[in-house]
Amino acid sequence: MIYDLAIIGGGPAGYTAAELAGKNGLKTIIFEKNVLGGVCLNEGCIPTKTLLYSAKVFHSAKDSAKYGISCENVQFDLSKIIARKNKVVRKLTAGIRAKMTESGVETVIGTAVIRDIAGQARNDNSIEILCNEQTYSAKNLLLCTGSEVVIPPISGIKETNFWTSREALDNKEIPESLVIIGGGVIGIEFASFFNTLGTKVVVVEMLDEILGGMDKELSALLRNELTKKGIEFHLGTKVVSVHNNQVEIEKDGEKRILETAKILLSVGRKPVLTGFGLENISLETFGNGLKVNEFMQTSQPNIYACGDITGFSLLAHTAVREAEVAVEHILGKAEKMSYKAIPGVVYTNPEIAGVGKTEDILQSEGVAYAVKQLPMAYSGRFVAENEQGNGVCKILESEDGNILGVHILGNPASEIIVIAGIAIEKGLKTGELKAMIFPHPTVGEIIKETL
Ligand SMILES: Cc1cc2nc3c(=O)[nH]c(=O)nc-3n(C[C@H](O)[C@H](O)[C@H](O)COP(=O)(O)OP(=O)(O)OC[C@H]3O[C@@H](n4cnc5c(N)ncnc54)[C@H](O)[C@@H]3O)c2cc1C
Repeated sequence: MIYDLAIIGGGPAGYTAAELAGKNGLKTIIFEKNVLGGVCLNEGCIPTKTLLYSAKVFHSAKDSAKYGISCENVQFDLSKIIARKNKVVRKLTAGIRAKMTESGVETVIGTAVIRDIAGQARNDNSIEILCNEQTYSAKNLLLCTGSEVVIPPISGIKETNFWTSREALDNKEIPESLVIIGGGVIGIEFASFFNTLGTKVVVVEMLDEILGGMDKELSALLRNELTKKGIEFHLGTKVVSVHNNQVEIEKDGEKRILETAKILLSVGRKPVLTGFGLENISLETFGNGLKVNEFMQTSQPNIYACGDITGFSLLAHTAVREAEVAVEHILGKAEKMSYKAIPGVVYTNPEIAGVGKTEDILQSEGVAYAVKQLPMAYSGRFVAENEQGNGVCKILESEDGNILGVHILGNPASEIIVIAGIAIEKGLKTGELKAMIFPHPTVGEIIKETL
């Protein structure tokens, strides 16, 4: 049998594509070497947010007197927090398995490898995939092998017992102290989690601000909030070497040793381009990922690539949209992928979120813009729910009234940023967005207020 679509990798890109393809009548097969759900469900988005939610509940209980509630002797049980995280992951991965069945998608658990097709005279242009010693043929192939953690060549790293995000998710006890190497989104989310549960957290970041890519002013405000909670930051600082429980850092030529119970390495992720027979086909690369066009086709038109493998966005929601675009293209619909309004969110407490362009980007592009900015305290709902919370909503507007970027610090930035995302994607003018009716009282009203 020749499948219409074969998919390698069952993360957000792969399972979204499989479900959509199956529901639209394409004979679809998906290969996954571990567990359906990929990094996102099993060791990324969902487990981290489940842990962060437990930390938030713990913090709220300790903080409850401010809201007129007394909770005494508030404690947490890490084994129960981890068990709940595992339960959530199991529930959601089971949901993905059910979706595959409901959509008529065949799922094969095993490592899939593209067969060497260079020497094959194939009239039908199909691609062959080997998995569990069986060969499968497909008219179209979608590569969604995701990404893996980057281990930088720091002196002593090979001999040191460090955590990556994967080990940090399943730790058996809360370390007394933790040095996090890398102040990006993943590092800062873990900093927030461990700090809330009582670990002395130190973040070492090579750049001059945490959360590169997010609005710098808001990132600095978040850093101040986290500093007040006891997290120590070393910015513009390089890690020179690591050795068991010591991290040697250097700033402006001065070296210093940080003593720590644990080290969490979190300096980024890179696309997985090995282990699935990429060497057997010839596809162009771009940066450290696979090159794709606006329909997610690689340099071979019937081979598509979506998600982290392109090395472009490394976010689950981008992967999902890319998968939809790829499948729609296979189905003959010509919807192009748009990267104009991809929200970025950091699920710390408080949350920070942004969509569209940052001031740094606009300045580097030489685009003129105006800043509209308001403290979150202008939202009644925010004040009702945040006794001490600071926060900011910042909107960047072009000279002709287009919304260029929206950046929010304050809960629940992750939920309200979608309003701004829709406005930017659909090209709404600031006046048009302001004319919308926002339910009252909601924190989202801050967008209308700011405009
Ligand atoms: C700690 C952490 C937190 C994160 N939090 C967020 C977040 O809050 N929001 C967000 O948007 N993103 C988050 N991400 C990023 C998100 O997880 C990824 O962007 C997303 O998982 C990418 O989806 P994907 O489908 O491209 O790849 P993946 O989810 O990586 O899935 C790829 C799958 O391919 C499989 N595979 C690889 N090779 C083969 C093969 N040869 N045969 C069969 N199967 C194969 C792998 O086993 C894997 O399951 C986080 C990541 C991490 C690590």
